[in-house]
Amino acid sequence: MKWQRFMSIPIIAVFGLMGFVYYMTVFVFIQDWVGLQSSAGCLNTLLFTLLASLCLFSFFVCVLTDPGFVPSSYIPDVEGISNVSDHHQLDNQYGAQERHCDKCSTYKPPRAHHCKVCRRCIMRMDHHCIWINNCVGYWNYKAFFALVLYTTIGSMYSTVMIVSCALQNDLDFTGRLPVQIFYVTFGIIMVGLCFTLGTLLGWHIYLITRNMTTIEYYEGICAAWLARKSGQSYRHPFDVTFYKNITSVLGSNMLKWLCPTAVSHLKDGSHFPTSHDS
Ligand SMILES: [Zn+2]
Ligand SMILES: [Zn+2]
Repeated sequence: MKWQRFMSIPIIAVFGLMGFVYYMTVFVFIQDWVGLQSSAGCLNTLLFTLLASLCLFSFFVCVLTDPGFVPSSYIPDVEGISNVSDHHQLDNQYGAQERHCDKCSTYKPPRAHHCKVCRRCIMRMDHHCIWINNCVGYWNYKAFFALVLYTTIGSMYSTVMIVSCALQNDLDFTGRLPVQIFYVTFGIIMVGLCFTLGTLLGWHIYLITRNMTTIEYYEGICAAWLARKSGQSYRHPFDVTFYKNITSVLGSNMLKWLCPTAVSHLKDGSHFPTSHDS
């Protein structure tokens, strides 16, 4: 049951954190800053609620979407690889034996990896994320990216609200030490959250522009080192062009780039164009 994925401590912690940040931002900081009844208060509450809803929606999609389990009936389509040199390159990069999973006793498509936690092979696996209690793979990578983006913007918004509220009070908390401690503590938490999520967002923007997964990034370091040792150069085989790399993950319609459920551009997750196709 997919809903059972919610029965995990990190997921409950994420819900708790989202609820806490939302409550504090709206009912403490916006309220203190301009008041919820004012037009500025209403507008900020509306915008922040919209952001929080997008975070929550992306989170649900990440948790409930199957990341792309490799079907047990999968058979490698050698003909599907455009030419022999490509086939060799894929074999060399991942190792011919890597295309068969001993644990699942099945073949696996290019870019698929076995997840020890899910005990399945996952198509275009990025990593297993404990915060969504699910793998990040072919079908939910876009939702994961949207989640990281919306939570980063949401954290920044909340931080701006705290600063605005502190400035409104002229940073004058003389004789109100508990309030000072409260502001500083929550501010530090939010800055830490902005920094962590912002770094994660930057990382995944980099990966998307290179058409790489986190696993492939680390494999690439090893492959590049081996290539250098033998006097050759290494290029990530699925890095096509900057724009195609982005559209292969987010879709060709820019208006739907930030919609976690707009994945009609995805095929079956077993074939990927390589730089040798063009
Ligand atoms: Zn497997
Ligand atoms: Zn997994």
